[in-house]
Amino acid sequence: TPEPLAPTLDSARRVLKQYYGYDTFRPMQESIISNIMSGKDTVVLMPTGGGKSVCFQVPAVVQEGVCVVVSPLIALMKDQVEALKANGIPAEYINSSVGQSEQTSIASDCLNGYLKLLYVSPEKLVSPGFLQFLQRLRISMFAIDEAHCISSWGHDFRPEYTQLRVLREQFPQVPIIALTATADRLTQRDIQQQLRMHEPEVFLSSFDRPNLNLIVRPGQNRVGSIVEFVTARPSESGIIYCLSRKQCETLAQKLKEKGVRANHYHAGMTPNQRASVQEGFLRDDLQVIVATIAFGMGIDKSNVRWVIHYNLPKNIEGYYQEIGRGGRDGAPATAILFYSFADVMSLRDMLTKDADPRLSQLSLTKLERMQQFAEAASCRRKILLNYFGETLEKDCGNCDICRNPPTTFDGTELAQKALSAVVRMRERAPIGLLIDVLRGMRNQAILQGGYEQIKTYGAGRDLPYLDWYSYIHQMLNDGLLYIAYEEGYSLKITEVGKLVLQGQRQLPMKKFQPAEKAEKQPRG
Ligand code: ADP
Ligand code: ZN
Repeated sequence: TPEPLAPTLDSARRVLKQYYGYDTFRPMQESIISNIMSGKDTVVLMPTGGGKSVCFQVPAVVQEGVCVVVSPLIALMKDQVEALKANGIPAEYINSSVGQSEQTSIASDCLNGYLKLLYVSPEKLVSPGFLQFLQRLRISMFAIDEAHCISSWGHDFRPEYTQLRVLREQFPQVPIIALTATADRLTQRDIQQQLRMHEPEVFLSSFDRPNLNLIVRPGQNRVGSIVEFVTARPSESGIIYCLSRKQCETLAQKLKEKGVRANHYHAGMTPNQRASVQEGFLRDDLQVIVATIAFGMGIDKSNVRWVIHYNLPKNIEGYYQEIGRGGRDGAPATAILFYSFADVMSLRDMLTKDADPRLSQLSLTKLERMQQFAEAASCRRKILLNYFGETLEKDCGNCDICRNPPTTFDGTELAQKALSAVVRMRERAPIGLLIDVLRGMRNQAILQGGYEQIKTYGAGRDLPYLDWYSYIHQMLNDGLLYIAYEEGYSLKITEVGKLVLQGQRQLPMKKFQPAEKAEKQPRG
């Protein structure tokens, strides 16, 4: 058993050296560890790979008593405990997979003060009897890993986490450390409130990953673009995220046909199949994994050179986590998101089906933020960092917007044409029909509605369909129009839209660039 040392930074450094073999703490770790060792509640927000575990494991070794770690995933719990044991630190885990006699022996190792860390699932922690058992122990602290799971505002809410409120009531003297790699501003606040933390010190390490080149491209012909991108980089590993299992399989097949060492990965495969794909990727036998979001949890591969999103992710937290699997080694890496409005529609349909209306509303709002990110005309990194509560003073210079800033022009007149048509069609037209009317097409829907009679019919025939499509989306982004999903996705005009229509407000617009044109511009 390691002898308890006086809880000073010096002894913490010695533990780091002796058990982990590292000479120095990373800057943020040192302040976090001091704070924890002074017995204060602590919130740690640090991206994956930042070194969160050391922050509570080292104080756990240094301090008297046992540190109780709450962790949601049985597999990760096992890995962490094995890594600790391999380093010579007495640690165990208790969850549904651990047998009764094993649990008894772990319990006695806790009681006799041998164990420094005890990992438990949230269910186990709050189960009858277990809290009573904990009352008999000397507990140095509670470490709540993946703390965002406590918040229904987060993107990975786990109801069993909400019971962790009882910790403060039953153990008022024990400090609580909450750790997460993914929490927007609202979730951060909610974590502190729910755990009843006392004026916690919050450590927000930068979420910036300056080596990631952030790119958003239009979704048209994405398969072709992806095949071209991947085959041009035969020695670079990458991950492609798709929404559906079927898409993963189809795209992986397509890449294989082009001679790429690719395979798919999703939750519909057996654990053995998944493990073998994952190992192939880690060993670089596979160059490309085409996966659903099931892939990536706990994967430690540093030389992933690019991450592609075939579909729009559901929210910014998820997107950020997924692109964060690229460029862990600090060398340049690329994140490409293919954006299509059709994805927004299908995600919307999916999310609306949530039985809980509040959750459904929340996920729809998060989706909107994601969509705004994809359609934005300002530095992508600024938007991302802002989402996690950080501000970037200057534009990043390493995203598609910074590298190729959109030129704006006065789009007021253009917008007025569209807005006027929307009103004259009595706000009953979805986007496609509106564009057809503006461009003076003659099809059945137009003739049936008598829309060829309205004043703005054909007023926009000088512009191609895709240009109108882009401009109308900018108008949606700028809040001039909205889509009534429940009324056949028809476009409605807002108060701001009316101001523009009446000439009381100007509208700068971003010039539309078709995908191929944008591609040919020099990058960097
Ligand atoms: P997180 O939990 O934030 O994802 P980990 O705690 O798993 O991150 O740490 C990520 C990696 O960084 C691990 O390989 C860990 O051993 C290493 N690491 C952590 N702290 C240090 C340090 N002070 N010096 C060197 N390497 C460190
Ligand atoms: Zn930028």
